[in-house]
Amino acid sequence: MKMYADILIIGGGVSGSAMGAALVNSGHRVICIDQGTGGPLDTARGDHISPVNVEAIAEWGVLEHFFAAGATKRIGHQFRSSDGETLLSAEYTEMGIPYPYFLVINHEMITPTFMSFAKTDPGFVLLQPYSVKDLEVTDGNVTNVLATNREGDEVQISAHMIIACDGASSTVREKLRVPCFEHPYNHPMVAFFTDRPAALAPDNYFFRYAGDNGQLVIQQRMDGTIKVTMPVADEGIPWWKKSTNEDRQKIVGGIAPELSDSELELAGFYPVRMIHAIDYAIGNVVLIGDAAHAIHPARGQGLNMGIASLKALIPLIPAPDEISKPEAVKLALAEFHRIQKPLNDRIIARNHSAAMEMEMGADENRAFVLKKSNAAIKQMAGDLKIRELHLNEATGYHFGVPAKA
Ligand SMILES: Cc1cc2nc3c(=O)[nH]c(=O)nc-3n(C[C@H](O)[C@H](O)[C@H](O)COP(=O)(O)OP(=O)(O)OC[C@H]3O[C@@H](n4cnc5c(N)ncnc54)[C@H](O)[C@@H]3O)c2cc1C
Repeated sequence: MKMYADILIIGGGVSGSAMGAALVNSGHRVICIDQGTGGPLDTARGDHISPVNVEAIAEWGVLEHFFAAGATKRIGHQFRSSDGETLLSAEYTEMGIPYPYFLVINHEMITPTFMSFAKTDPGFVLLQPYSVKDLEVTDGNVTNVLATNREGDEVQISAHMIIACDGASSTVREKLRVPCFEHPYNHPMVAFFTDRPAALAPDNYFFRYAGDNGQLVIQQRMDGTIKVTMPVADEGIPWWKKSTNEDRQKIVGGIAPELSDSELELAGFYPVRMIHAIDYAIGNVVLIGDAAHAIHPARGQGLNMGIASLKALIPLIPAPDEISKPEAVKLALAEFHRIQKPLNDRIIARNHSAAMEMEMGADENRAFVLKKSNAAIKQMAGDLKIRELHLNEATGYHFGVPAKA
């Protein structure tokens, strides 16, 4: 089978489906190809969409669809010490931003919400489950993409522009031999689901707890339960796999006393590594989302960086009557790289610094590292300028809140 498109999106996860949604009514013929079978996705992955991205989602016309799918709002956050002191408490209304909340929606519902909106455009086709196996490259441009389904049926797709959103182990990145900066971290993350203890309030806040025994974060889920995530320390993954609820309560409750009596259901383990592509634009191909930058979940920014990149990419895409010109596509993608790469370099450097603190907060030096960190957070809470920088970063306004027109 041979197919043609103006824009081919490879990978229909969060980034690929968001791209499809953002292109609705653009007039382009779009194919999105994904190897998934439509089976359940890992619900413990990213599930909070940042305020800066809520702005983008509203602009694309998808916001009301997220609420219709059951999304709720997270309006603030609190950093607490393990001995019960509130170090910093903030609500996003203090920032003067248009959407002062995170959208809270289970990970497995984000893609279907974007995707069903993308499908409202008659020029959009979703091809699933097809896995991209090879790329044909002519004069530095990908001229054909070869994919197969489980029955071995092959499809060849030719497109003017290719947007690779195929995740951290990107086939496109590998086939095009894009060099990457990589950093493996030592401590994987462990996540739990549990009912929200009555003592943990407000119920629409994110919480971070840290003390002599370690640190963890608590995120609300759309169904009123919570997700607890922390680095695996010396006890290791095998220990957690065999652990009883009482064992879990002892460790988790030793960091966040409110969780001492919780039923902690294991949601999963996550090896963590940073992979940052040196080039985002390769001829007529651009890497987006985890394919371009997989990062440590320390600041919950992975899925949000992917969506945020689209805001820069969309206005650069040549119009339907221009996109068949290879030079126009190449220039647009090179411009995207020029704008976005230095911004992402800085965001990733800051994320890496938070990741390293999480690493050190999980080893034998943790009491020292986390005491220092708690003292700094408390000081920051009362310093208006630093507090503003902290809130900007937490909500995705990494380089400041734009002044109102
Ligand atoms: C424990 C954990 C917690 C996290 N918490 C947060 C958080 O709080 N906030 C946050 O913002 N982020 C978080 N993240 C990160 C976030 O989940 C990811 O950054 C995000 O899902 C990446 O989206 P993506 O679309 O770029 O990649 P993916 O979601 O990995 O999607 C890639 C898609 O490409 C498809 N694909 C892959 N290869 C091929 C191929 N060869 N052919 C066709 N299709 C292909 C796959 O089927 C998949 O649909 C977390 C991650 C983890 C592991």
